[in-house]
Amino acid sequence: MEPTSNLKVVIVGGSIAGLTLAHCLLRNGIDFVILESRGEVYPQEGAALGMLPNGSRILDQLGIFDDLIEGVQPLRKCWFWSGTGELIAEDDGPVEFEMRHGYCSAFMDRQLVLEKLYSKLGDHRGRVLVNKKTVDIENLPDGVRVHCADGSVYEGGLVVGADGVRSTVRQSMWKSMEEHNLQAEVENEKTTMTSEYNCVFGIATATPGLNPGDVHRTYAEGYSFLAIIGSEGRVWWFLFTKMDRKYSHSEIPRFSQKDMDEHVASYLSMPVTGSVPFSEIYERAIFRNMLALEESLYKHWFHDRKVCIGDSVHKMTPNMGQGANSAIENAAMLANYLAKLTKSSSYESEDIRRCLQDWQTTVQPRIGEIWHSACDLTRIEAKATLKGKIFIYLLPYMQTMLLNKQSAVMVTAAKLDCLPPPARSLRGSIPFKDLKQSEGKTDNGRKGMVLGALLVGFVAVGWNWRRLLYRLYN
Ligand SMILES: Cc1cc2nc3c(=O)[nH]c(=O)nc-3n(C[C@H](O)[C@H](O)[C@H](O)COP(=O)(O)OP(=O)(O)OC[C@H]3O[C@@H](n4cnc5c(N)ncnc54)[C@H](O)[C@@H]3O)c2cc1C
Repeated sequence: MEPTSNLKVVIVGGSIAGLTLAHCLLRNGIDFVILESRGEVYPQEGAALGMLPNGSRILDQLGIFDDLIEGVQPLRKCWFWSGTGELIAEDDGPVEFEMRHGYCSAFMDRQLVLEKLYSKLGDHRGRVLVNKKTVDIENLPDGVRVHCADGSVYEGGLVVGADGVRSTVRQSMWKSMEEHNLQAEVENEKTTMTSEYNCVFGIATATPGLNPGDVHRTYAEGYSFLAIIGSEGRVWWFLFTKMDRKYSHSEIPRFSQKDMDEHVASYLSMPVTGSVPFSEIYERAIFRNMLALEESLYKHWFHDRKVCIGDSVHKMTPNMGQGANSAIENAAMLANYLAKLTKSSSYESEDIRRCLQDWQTTVQPRIGEIWHSACDLTRIEAKATLKGKIFIYLLPYMQTMLLNKQSAVMVTAAKLDCLPPPARSLRGSIPFKDLKQSEGKTDNGRKGMVLGALLVGFVAVGWNWRRLLYRLYN
C-alpha cells in the first residue's frame, strides 16, 4: 500500500518493535523510514524469541505468521524441576494454550523473526536504512529532524524510538521535557531502570535426554534454568541468576567472556532435568552470551512529537517471553491511533498530543501488568521471595490456575484495527476480546490471582505442612 496520509514517521531502530511498526503503518497508508544503527537488519546474535498468541495474532494479521512457523517445532510439554533435579510437575500447557487461543507457542532464533519481518516488507525494504545511528533529534515547528552519526538528516511529523533499552529517542524526549519545565519528572524517569538479575543464554546442538517440543524450567535457590527444545533437538537455553545486589541505571554491569566462563563454572553440575546437567548443554553451545537484565517501566512514553515503544519504555526480564510480544502489541496499537489521527485531512500539534495521550492511556496499564508479572516470575523462579519459596510446593496444584492467568493476558491483547481478525484467532475455545472492552487491563487482577493461588495452594498442601516448613528453613 502506498502512503495516503501526509504524516511521515521516522522510526529509530529496525528490530522487533521498529519493523512491526513499519508493517502496521504500511497497512494504514502512513509513510515511514527506519533508521537502524547496525550494518545488517537480521544478524545472528545467538538469541531466541518465543512467540505467544498476543504477538502471533498481529503477525498473522500482517501475513507473516505462517512463514515464521514453517518448519518450527511447536512446544508441547512443560517440565518443572527443583534445583536438585526432582520433578515438581509436568503438563501439556502449550497444547492446551493452542486449543484455547488458536496459536501454537513456538520458539525460534530471533534472527529468523527479524529476517521474516524484513523480507515481508517486499518492495518497501528500501525504506529500512542501515548504518544510520541516530545521534540527535531537533524539534521543528511542525515536526522533527533526526540527525544520524554519518551526517545524514531525516525529517518527519513524528519520531518513534524503537531503539531498545539504551534509547537515544528517550534521551531526546527527556531533553524536550526539561525544556518544558518537567525536570522533576525527568529526574524520576532517570532512576527508573535497575538490574537485579543476569542471564547467560545461547543456542546448543541436540543434547541427549532433551526432546523436541519440550520446555524445562528449573526453580532453584538464587537461579533458574530454562531450556526449550526445537526441531532437530536445537536447544535454546538460559541461566538466570540473582546478582549480589540491585544495580541502578549508571552502574549496571557488562560482562566479558571471562566473566561468563567464571560465572557458569559453578552451575555446570546443576541439573536442568532429572538426567541432564547444565554442562551437557553448555558444552554443545554454538552461541553463548551474558547480559545484565535491565528492568524499567517508564511513565512517559511520548512528549511533543517524540514517542517510544518496545524495550525503550517497557524493558522486562525475559522469563515470561513477553518483551518482544508486548513490543509487537504496542507497535500495532500506536499504528491504530495514528491511523485515526490521519483520517482527518489536517491536524495540529495538539491533535497529535491528544492522539498519543489516548494511545498511552489505553496501552500502558495492560503492558504495565505484563511487566509486573514478568518481574514476579523471575523472582519466583529464582526462589528469591517468600512467594517463590512456597510456589514450588504449590505448583502441582496450581497448573490450571496459572494457565488461566496466562489466558487472561492473551484474550485482552491488542490487534490491528485496519485488518480483520485472522481465521486462526477465531478458532480458539476462549475468544479474544477488544482491549478497550477490558479498559486496558488484562482479564484478571494480578494481586487477586496471586492471593487466590496462595489460598488454594495452602489448602492443597495443608496435609503436608510439616514437610513444607522443614524444607523452607533448611
Ligand atoms: C536473553 C533474552 C531472551 C529473550 N526472550 C524473549 C522471548 O522469548 N520472547 C519475547 O517476547 N521477548 C524476549 N526477549 C525480549 C526481546 O528480545 C525484547 O523485548 C525485544 O527485542 C524488544 O524489541 P525492540 O525492538 O523494542 O528493541 P531491540 O530488539 O533492542 O532493538 C532496538 C534496535 O534499535 C537499534 N538502535 C539502538 N540505538 C539506535 C540508534 N541510536 N540509532 C538507530 N538505531 C538504534 C538497535 O541496533 C536495534 O536494532 C528476550 C530478551 C533477552 C535479553
